[in-house]
Amino acid sequence: MLALKSLRTHAKVDVADLKASLVALSDGPWKPAFTESQRALARCAGAGDDLVPKLGPTFALRPSFGSPGESFGDLIFRDGSAYYVFTSLSEDPFLEVGVVQPGADATDLDEFADAVKQAILSSLDGRKTRHMRLDWSAVRTTSTQLDNLVASERETSGIELQRARLDSDELKAAVVLEPRTTRTILIEISQAGFAREQDILARRGKAKEEAREALNELKSAGLVGVEYLVECKKAGTPISRLQSPDDLSDPAVARLKCPGCGRTFPEESLSEAFSMSELGKRMTRKSHWMTVAVTSRLVEIGVPIEGILWNISEGGDEVDLVVDVVGDLWLFELKDREFGAGDAHPFNYRQVRYKAAKAVVITTEKVSPDARRVFQELSREGRGQRSNPIYVEGLENTEPVLTQEIEAAYRRQAARKLIRVGSTTGIDFRPLLKAHFEIPELEQETVDYGDYFMSPAVFRSWGGLGGFAEEDL
Ligand SMILES: [Zn+2]
Repeated sequence: MLALKSLRTHAKVDVADLKASLVALSDGPWKPAFTESQRALARCAGAGDDLVPKLGPTFALRPSFGSPGESFGDLIFRDGSAYYVFTSLSEDPFLEVGVVQPGADATDLDEFADAVKQAILSSLDGRKTRHMRLDWSAVRTTSTQLDNLVASERETSGIELQRARLDSDELKAAVVLEPRTTRTILIEISQAGFAREQDILARRGKAKEEAREALNELKSAGLVGVEYLVECKKAGTPISRLQSPDDLSDPAVARLKCPGCGRTFPEESLSEAFSMSELGKRMTRKSHWMTVAVTSRLVEIGVPIEGILWNISEGGDEVDLVVDVVGDLWLFELKDREFGAGDAHPFNYRQVRYKAAKAVVITTEKVSPDARRVFQELSREGRGQRSNPIYVEGLENTEPVLTQEIEAAYRRQAARKLIRVGSTTGIDFRPLLKAHFEIPELEQETVDYGDYFMSPAVFRSWGGLGGFAEEDL
């Protein structure tokens, strides 16, 4: 997956200072693309590198942070990745480095951040750098948005959202509960309160082997507790429940006699019986197992777990998961049954209320044709979201369907970031990015970013450098 990773430090580095530092950096293995081109330009005029900080476009798109001259960045293409360094001198100045690379592990980013730091220290005056904070920390965009949501939901609607947390017991239990057979048996045990293995198997007909297997899995995942039943050999009635067969060797128990036939307990028959454990109750309440199963898949796809919220409210049929996918909210509704027309309206309402960018319906069965029709009508009437929800029918299809959608979101974010950094040089970096990466979204970003930043006509029509806000990008 093409992913963006960023580090930021709250240091104020002027544009000219960053340019000088990038000249120093380009003497090493990291070659800033724009800076290298400026060095070549200076050489053409028989001048040296000291000219580079003075070179720049005659005009540039008003950058996303502050006014022109208040931000600058450069890109380094290396080993199939694109690194960037970016300075912003807005009210809250910062210096940022980042990398867009295939695969989730941005292992070289620390090395790059350190090289940038050394370049700054070596090329700037010590009086300037003495108080400069060059301690990098990871840029996280998800936390604040989700924290605000947790607080506002608690206040306005009483919905209790909580950061997702995967623990190994719940993960194992969720895997065991995924096949329908284990879920059915667990529910049967829960309804009976206490059930003997032979009774569970008796109801299974030919599927006994499958049921026995399922029981073993329920047992080993700790979803059911096992107890032992002493039964009268004569009448077949239960006479006592034991925690362990070993209890029968306790002389106090071994002495006890059946009131019906007079045999001692060890002489009577002993069978296993099951009851739902605390874990079992937790996993089946509001189909929590599904929440865990979907969360673990999202994490596997590459969504950070800090970006996932669970709805832990008691009762109610509210949203199940709220996920921050690179700054956009995605809403998930999980159903261990068919998703019907009656589910569509409330879900659409929630989507609007949360201003969700995408809605995802995951059902263990089907999304009914009526429900699909409701969503289509709502979006046609402009009362719903612009696009229909993403439908996942069958939990096993979660990964293939969502991987595609999530990867596209990540690519879009990465493309946007690199274009934005590149735009501060006055050069349109899109053709370079296209040549370097396969990013279909680059075509799409044309609409958002426009061809305007090197077009004098459009530039004039804006009235020069005025009037662009961050949201214009
Ligand atoms: Zn008896």
